[in-house]
Amino acid sequence: MTAQRTAIVTGSTSGIGLAIARRLGAAGFNLVLNSYTDAAEDHALAESLAAEFGVEALYVSADMSRGDAARQLVATAAEKFGAFHVLVNNAGIQHVAPIESFPVEQWDRIIAINLTSAFHTTAAALPIMRKAGFGRIVNIASAHGLRASINKSAYVAAKHGIVGLSKTTALETAGQGITCNAVCPGFVLTPLVETQIQDLMAEKNLDRETVVADHVLRKQPSKEFATVDQIAGTVAFLCSDDAAQITGTTISVDGGWTAQ
Ligand code: NAD
Repeated sequence: MTAQRTAIVTGSTSGIGLAIARRLGAAGFNLVLNSYTDAAEDHALAESLAAEFGVEALYVSADMSRGDAARQLVATAAEKFGAFHVLVNNAGIQHVAPIESFPVEQWDRIIAINLTSAFHTTAAALPIMRKAGFGRIVNIASAHGLRASINKSAYVAAKHGIVGLSKTTALETAGQGITCNAVCPGFVLTPLVETQIQDLMAEKNLDRETVVADHVLRKQPSKEFATVDQIAGTVAFLCSDDAAQITGTTISVDGGWTAQ
């Protein structure tokens, strides 16, 4: 990977996105960090990563539930850095409820943030990547992009959708120096999963250990969480020259979940 390439990571103030940004920063990429807030700590995070890795880093507030904001994020990155080379569509949320009582606004929000935002950023990014003759698009899907679970209709639909979007993007960019793939993590201990653990503890009146073993990691044969660094390392590999012929596929990091 050449120094002074630039990477955009959506939803990168926390969890998996932050670990990906840190890993790409360590590999010499300039960074465009993103979330929907615009707090001093968001900009301070960009400054601290820039100092730590000796790269340029910019925080851009953009709400991925809005298509115009998603496209503007890409435009802002291109304006600031002239071009960019990596787009990681990572921003995502979760809501758990049976279909018949699933709140419509939560359905719309999950589809918008977890799926439609990647359509908008990809559409805005492709002309810039084609001009550069190089691009790596990595979509953070999920084991739920390949398998279903009860009460996660919107999330499963969005994640299956982003796997399909990744394949179509790969076909439309094949032979142009651009690849697009989806990474499918199993359970990773981040704020998104911690909320589910806390909700299950309350709902089932169980201690944390039991909830993690019997409910959260039930489908993950390793019985271990994947780590944010393992996801980040997989993304960094997909961004490397070694991965130039890997496109339109999924890479699972799920402790064996989808082998079942
Ligand atoms: P997280 O809650 O720790 O981080 C989500 C990030 O997205 C945060 O930076 C948050 O600020 C940002 N975000 C949320 N709404 C946004 C919006 N409207 N606009 C812009 N940014 C927004 O979650 P995480 O676990 O790190 O999840 C990251 C991605 O990985 C998601 O797409 C999630 O579905 C996926 N994933 C997570 C797991 C897991 O077990 N944690 C497993 C499979 C896939």
